[in-house]
Amino acid sequence: MKRINIAIDGHSSCGKGTLAKQLASALGYKFIDSGAMYRAVTLYVLRMDVDPENDDAVHSVLPQISIDFVVNNATGRSDVCLNGENVEKEIRTLRIANSVSQIARIPSVRRFLVMLQQKMGADKGVVMDGRDIGTVVFPDAELKIFMTANPEVRALRRFNELTENGIKTTYEEVLANLKQRDHIDSSRSDSPLTMTSDYRLLDNSDLSREEQFSQALKWVEEALGNKI
Ligand code: C5P
Repeated sequence: MKRINIAIDGHSSCGKGTLAKQLASALGYKFIDSGAMYRAVTLYVLRMDVDPENDDAVHSVLPQISIDFVVNNATGRSDVCLNGENVEKEIRTLRIANSVSQIARIPSVRRFLVMLQQKMGADKGVVMDGRDIGTVVFPDAELKIFMTANPEVRALRRFNELTENGIKTTYEEVLANLKQRDHIDSSRSDSPLTMTSDYRLLDNSDLSREEQFSQALKWVEEALGNKI
């Protein structure tokens, strides 16, 4: 059966991961959270006391970093590992969220992670979410979805999710963080978040998860050229 790569890009906290996971599980594809890889690099940089604004210093620690994913038997999801250590929980904190876009604008960090991501998708059958997946990582992806939603809706969803996971924060702090990340991600000079004309736009401000999933599945069927 034909297998494709699906790129899901878009603004911070608009449910790209949720949709990517749903699609991957429906299709029997691999889900890859590229943001988790940028977050893991950020965690390493902060642990080593390297200044995220110092591009050369960040560049020099990259050879010390290895990143991969392991299946978490408790959740059934794949967790990101930094040098063999499962750091899935630690990378979700606001401390990481506040520095990750700074790290992600550094060209050598991007080259390092894009190379790994391209290897992961070389055999097709991958759903990857991020900011530059359809523009840089898999420019030939058969389906590209650009997701967005209004910032207040996104902040509320993210705030609820963090609170449910026991992470202490406020709605205002979450809103400020996602606006700041959107700004840095869209304005950086290396692979900014951009919606090119080959993307399908999915604004889920007023859509339920089920509605957005069925819309995306229709696009998958079109991309596959048959019913699944
Ligand atoms: O997707 P997530 O919000 O976890 O990504 C964290 C950050 O990593 C983003 O705000 C962005 O700065 C960076 N990122 C990126 N390119 C990707 C994925 C994430 O620059 N493909």
